[in-house]
Amino acid sequence: MEDGPGGRLSALDPHRVDARHFLIAGAGIGGLAAALALARTGARITLLEQAPVLEEAGAGLQLSPNASGILSELGVLPRLEGLAMAPERLRVRSATSGRDLMFMPLGQTARARWGAPTLVVHRADLQRALLEAVAEQDMITLRTGVEITAFTRETDGVHVHATGDTGTICGDVLIGADGAHSRIRRSLGLGSEPVWSGRTAWRALVPASEAPAFARADETSLWLGARTHLVHYPLRQGALINIVAITDDGWRGADPARFWTERGDERVVTQRFADWHMEARGLLECVRDWRRWPLFDCDPLKRWSAGPVALLGDAAHPMLPFFAQGAAQAIEDAGALGQAFMPCATGVPSITRALADYERKRVARAARVQTASRRQAMIYHLSGPAALVRDIGMRALPPQAVMARFDWLYRYPA
Ligand SMILES: Cc1cc2nc3c(=O)[nH]c(=O)nc-3n(C[C@H](O)[C@H](O)[C@H](O)COP(=O)(O)OP(=O)(O)OC[C@H]3O[C@@H](n4cnc5c(N)ncnc54)[C@H](O)[C@@H]3O)c2cc1C
Repeated sequence: MEDGPGGRLSALDPHRVDARHFLIAGAGIGGLAAALALARTGARITLLEQAPVLEEAGAGLQLSPNASGILSELGVLPRLEGLAMAPERLRVRSATSGRDLMFMPLGQTARARWGAPTLVVHRADLQRALLEAVAEQDMITLRTGVEITAFTRETDGVHVHATGDTGTICGDVLIGADGAHSRIRRSLGLGSEPVWSGRTAWRALVPASEAPAFARADETSLWLGARTHLVHYPLRQGALINIVAITDDGWRGADPARFWTERGDERVVTQRFADWHMEARGLLECVRDWRRWPLFDCDPLKRWSAGPVALLGDAAHPMLPFFAQGAAQAIEDAGALGQAFMPCATGVPSITRALADYERKRVARAARVQTASRRQAMIYHLSGPAALVRDIGMRALPPQAVMARFDWLYRYPA
């Protein structure tokens, strides 16, 4: 549907035949959050997801305040009550000596400073909460088993083509929330493909009853070693321990599309962490089933949209997970997209204006997070004298000074 007279639509009722219709490619965290944010503008939304069933897979996810604040506005946070945990602090330790390098208060202190909670949640719980919220919105339709193969821009909007007998699906705007290897991004010619960073994330969930006591503490732990680091925290009211071990290595060959189904050879972890402190090794030895995930990186894109088509989430900004911000940035995108299309006193913004506004608010911010995540990777994996200097610097930092370093990231105006 074209914009109305003067580039504005006059009505907000999604049941009107002329309500603006958004197509969203991909029902990951980004696509689902975007559907919820756009539903608040009075639009109709069709989510198109290639997977036949949205499986509740994955492990832990850290949800920083810049994301949890937006999830609260979207009505998703209450659904995570009793599932998400708010750790009391971040503890950083040396991989070899086990010494504490740094603490950052989280819990109530972080909530008071940044205005929203810092949470850890099982990815499946977040996905379920988003899906429940989506199911309650009658203006959102979720179609699974629809793999988008192409799209064309026509005078009446965007036509999306999919595999099988789906036929052509028409809408006014297409949002490409189709992940790091986005087909929509490729079709738009906006930036290069993500490349494997040379790092692998080894992920596991362990029953808390089998894990050492230190790993059950109400904190997020980060251990720093040479060309390796380790993150762990309790999940689901402390019933599980989420473990992510990152290695710089030459691993190649597995199919990146088979996220969470690629089993890892635990000998790699055993070898790479062999000189680590005994507590960390004790935790790693509890793992029965490692899953590995190649980490991809991409230079920031300068543009996220062309005409009525725009990118969101990993499709717009694939990033290394060292600030735990990929999903958080996708949620920020969703919030900004909803705001850009929100009607104001003068009516509903035109598609062109709204997408330009969305890009203006998001491109530089996400690029900063992408670049900072890269830098963080380098800092985490230092070795020798450089690591020593890093550790001395960390130990000298008082907790409030550590928090201040994250203000730019976590205190994001929703
Ligand atoms: C080891 C690791 C740890 C992480 N930890 C954190 C963390 O703690 N906190 C955090 O915020 N982030 C974290 N992230 C990042 C986070 O997981 C991602 O950034 C986030 O899930 C991206 O969501 P998305 O919706 O943009 O993309 P995706 O989750 O990739 O979703 C894309 C969807 O699009 C669908 N799709 C793809 N192509 C098509 C097509 N052609 N047609 C239809 N559908 C299609 C896919 O099936 C999928 O459902 C981590 C990542 C890794 C690897």
